[in-house]
Amino acid sequence: MTRLGVDVGGTYIKWVLLDEDEVVSTGTVPTPPTPDETMTFVASLAARRVESIGIGLPGHVDRETGTALFVPNPPGNWDGYPVGARLGELTGTPVAVVNDARAFGLAELLLGAARGLPDVLFAVLGTGVGGAVALRGGILVGPRDNVGEIGHVTVAPWGPDCCCGNRGCVETFAGAPGIVRAFGSGPPEAVAEAARAGDGRAQGVLSRAGWALGIALGDAAAFFGVSTVVVGGGVAGALDLMRSALNTELERRRPLIGDIAVLPAVLGPMAGAIGAALYGRRSG
Ligand SMILES: [Zn+2]
Repeated sequence: MTRLGVDVGGTYIKWVLLDEDEVVSTGTVPTPPTPDETMTFVASLAARRVESIGIGLPGHVDRETGTALFVPNPPGNWDGYPVGARLGELTGTPVAVVNDARAFGLAELLLGAARGLPDVLFAVLGTGVGGAVALRGGILVGPRDNVGEIGHVTVAPWGPDCCCGNRGCVETFAGAPGIVRAFGSGPPEAVAEAARAGDGRAQGVLSRAGWALGIALGDAAAFFGVSTVVVGGGVAGALDLMRSALNTELERRRPLIGDIAVLPAVLGPMAGAIGAALYGRRSG
């Protein structure tokens, strides 16, 4: 039987069908303007008779009730929206509602770069910077599916305002909008291209992203005692340009945290949808 996994982003919805651990079908569509329309679209995908549905949202959710709690980016008002109940009504299929970064973490933990490793930190660099923590082979959850928000670790208390209400979060330096704002134009791929071509200012912007990420990962490694990090997301294509500054921060903390392996994610842009499908399987 097939499991459906859906990754709802601010701009696009990505979906996969998993047969056991194998991706048999994928798709990407623009995110509809309201949660109701998104539910209708997901239900249309599930019409192919799937055993379970997992849906990843970019924010905090109540996994028990399947309710969105704090999901600011996708169009429409998601806060308080009963995702699991609504999809269950429409499809009659078991539904798991999870945070998108935790879904990314589960996918890379079970099928990707961290396969076989029990204790791992995950960071997803996109429009936002998400994260997850695996200990003893399981992704930590928390009461609002909110464990691992590495993007909102403060690295510069005097820094730019962040969407979370704080200032100087990792996300303001290593997220796509922060990189584009610091360079003066975008997208992040163009900043990376400029850096590779020798543009010192572009190199500086990405080096600062690596610095911010290194501080947060070093602190998280100290906090959780893990020695492996997996970095993915659309901006992670520039990870090599961030590595030097990132490694400097990890190296400084070495007496405390030891050697930290920083691995690129391997499952690509569908990792969040794959992870959502894997969570669905658990509840199905
Ligand atoms: Zn923040």
